[in-house]
Amino acid sequence: MSFDVIIIGGGAAGLSAGLWCAELNLNYLLLEAETELGGQLLWTHNQIKNHLGIEAENGRELRDVFIKQVESRQFNYRLHSEISSIDFENKKISLESGEEFSAQALVIATGIRRRKLNVAGEEKFKNKGIIESGKRDGNLVKGKKALIIGGGDAAFENALILAETASEITLVHRQNNFRARSEFVEQAKNNPKVKILTDTTVRKFVGRERVEAVELENLHTKKEFKLAVEAVLIRIGVEPNTEILRGKIELDEQGCVKINQNCETNIKGIYAIGDVANPIAPTVSSAVGMGATAAKAIFSQLNF
Ligand SMILES: Cc1cc2nc3c(=O)[nH]c(=O)nc-3n(C[C@H](O)[C@H](O)[C@H](O)COP(=O)(O)OP(=O)(O)OC[C@H]3O[C@@H](n4cnc5c(N)ncnc54)[C@H](O)[C@@H]3O)c2cc1C
Repeated sequence: MSFDVIIIGGGAAGLSAGLWCAELNLNYLLLEAETELGGQLLWTHNQIKNHLGIEAENGRELRDVFIKQVESRQFNYRLHSEISSIDFENKKISLESGEEFSAQALVIATGIRRRKLNVAGEEKFKNKGIIESGKRDGNLVKGKKALIIGGGDAAFENALILAETASEITLVHRQNNFRARSEFVEQAKNNPKVKILTDTTVRKFVGRERVEAVELENLHTKKEFKLAVEAVLIRIGVEPNTEILRGKIELDEQGCVKINQNCETNIKGIYAIGDVANPIAPTVSSAVGMGATAAKAIFSQLNF
């Protein structure tokens, strides 16, 4: 099947590109790997009050507003559509299922994902002690010993949130300086429930049905030790979803797609928008704006 535009990824950026394709009468298909549209909006449990035009209680609420608007026009999308390969020269996309689609222009809107520790037990104890969100899962850590891994804003903010319900929090960071803003660090240091371990790394999660302890190593002394924990939250940053692009398209040192002011990559007719393109402000507003820019640029390039 052939389209004017194929959009890969159904987060804020991809949905905006879809809306603008409809506006410009471009025949498009949006492919989303997951079972739901929304991307990071589905894992945003805080209020969103900085996207002009609407305030939302959480990302899902904002996602619903976006979908309602996109659905009111031509909206051609497929869920569960994991892409296995892209033929950039012929702008042809193959799915895991074996199906193939081609287009005159491709828009990469694959966003980012949370970085994993890649240690033993991380997968096994997912949702069995290893929680997803401090804001959403606060009740699950009530009266428990919790471990937070990371040294940025997200780690410290979640440590402070979870300290409201947990009996004690240990924040583990592999360096001895923090990327987090100083106000969060000060608040955590002054909170009697929060203990901070620096120069320390996680080696393994252990337990039977649920996580019961974590094996840690002090990177200076090389001393290994065990800490009993009942809940864990990992916040060690994010990484772009660009595996399928590596070696084929120009990426920056962080693995994000390099683009020009029209959101076009180094290959003509291939665009990248939203967080995958490393915007200076990785926000809903940037993602939405980049979706409009790419659709407009494609429209003018295709000379309709
Ligand atoms: C906790 C949290 C709070 C935030 N708070 C705010 C806030 O208050 N205000 C604000 O403006 N922004 C906030 N943000 C940032 C904002 O959510 C993002 O900048 C924005 O949603 C990025 O959208 P995106 O479409 O670029 O990427 P994503 O939302 O990451 O979407 C990418 C989509 O592509 C799909 N995908 C990936 N690979 C493939 C593939 N191979 N094939 C098909 N589909 C694929 C993914 O499944 C996903 O649905 C927050 C983010 C988080 C995590």
